[in-house]
Amino acid sequence: MISAGAWLGMLGGGQLGRLFAMSAQSLGYRVIVLDPDADCPAGRTADRHLCAAYDDPHALADMAARCSAATTEFEGVPATSLDHLAARCHVVPAAASVAVAQDRIAEKRLLSRVVGVVPYAEIHCDEDIMRAPAELFPGILKTARMGYDGRGQMHVADALEARSAFAKWGAVACVLERRVEFLRELSVVLARDMRGNVVTYAVAENRHVKGILDLSIVPARVDPQTARHATAAAVAVAEALQYHGVMCLELFELVDGNIVANELAPRPHNSGHWTLDAAVTSQFEQQVRVLAGLPLGDTRQRAPAVMVNLLGELWHGGAAPDFSMLLQEPRARL
Ligand code: AMP
Repeated sequence: MISAGAWLGMLGGGQLGRLFAMSAQSLGYRVIVLDPDADCPAGRTADRHLCAAYDDPHALADMAARCSAATTEFEGVPATSLDHLAARCHVVPAAASVAVAQDRIAEKRLLSRVVGVVPYAEIHCDEDIMRAPAELFPGILKTARMGYDGRGQMHVADALEARSAFAKWGAVACVLERRVEFLRELSVVLARDMRGNVVTYAVAENRHVKGILDLSIVPARVDPQTARHATAAAVAVAEALQYHGVMCLELFELVDGNIVANELAPRPHNSGHWTLDAAVTSQFEQQVRVLAGLPLGDTRQRAPAVMVNLLGELWHGGAAPDFSMLLQEPRARL
């Protein structure tokens, strides 16, 4: 167990890193954030901000020397950085788990084995597109790496469009999947500790706009069996990965009632933000608890919740948005 007062490291200084830092500090830890952006959200909250690239050897050595343990807020972090840190301090989740979430091909293989996914094909060359079964169209071509929030994705009506999208992206590895109709998008956030104990949060029902999470309703308005099935699927994925830390599994509830996995996040997730205000223990505190070897916290929900995801572009006009109406609602949390 890592005692209060010790330093914990965070790769990435975005909002997830910031909320991690606040949870860690409230438990008495000190936090170092590594992020190349001098003005990153977590930089002002953390006890120390290393303003350097994620693979900067000096910054990583500095973090490893000071920290008892380190984690990441995003799956795009270079696997070599996690390996570098792991040689010197305790790192959660393991680089191998993050690597699966970094690569849609590895991720699809795992999820299809453990849960089931929408029909898809791995695309490495033009011939793979020509060979793709007709049932994959209309489909979505997704780059295997560096895609999130709808980026690196193109809707394609047929093989011709898929070939042109594939060429446009420089023939990088992709997955082509059928565009499915679903009743709802669901997600399950869980925490798994170093001994393999797992706790799960209530299933969230998520609405996306332009591929980005817009709204989560928790608990999801699904029948209890679907909720149990989704929860079991997330736990099965975490066990298959021998995962340690906080993880989220995103799923589709199909029109025929079946559920399939879409993707996993090896970290706290936007659809779990409600846990800050409406669960006994937040997903960020669980991240700290697993990292520091503390017992897992209670995941019970204290009140039904709806989370609206406010994106940074609301501030792009220069002025802060007017939240006065929202602040008049005493049960709303901003
Ligand atoms: P992803 O980055 O894979 O999570 O995709 C972003 C969003 O696009 C998802 O949350 C869905 O709303 C939508 N989407 C992704 N894949 C599919 C699919 N195969 N069929 C229909 N919608 C999809």
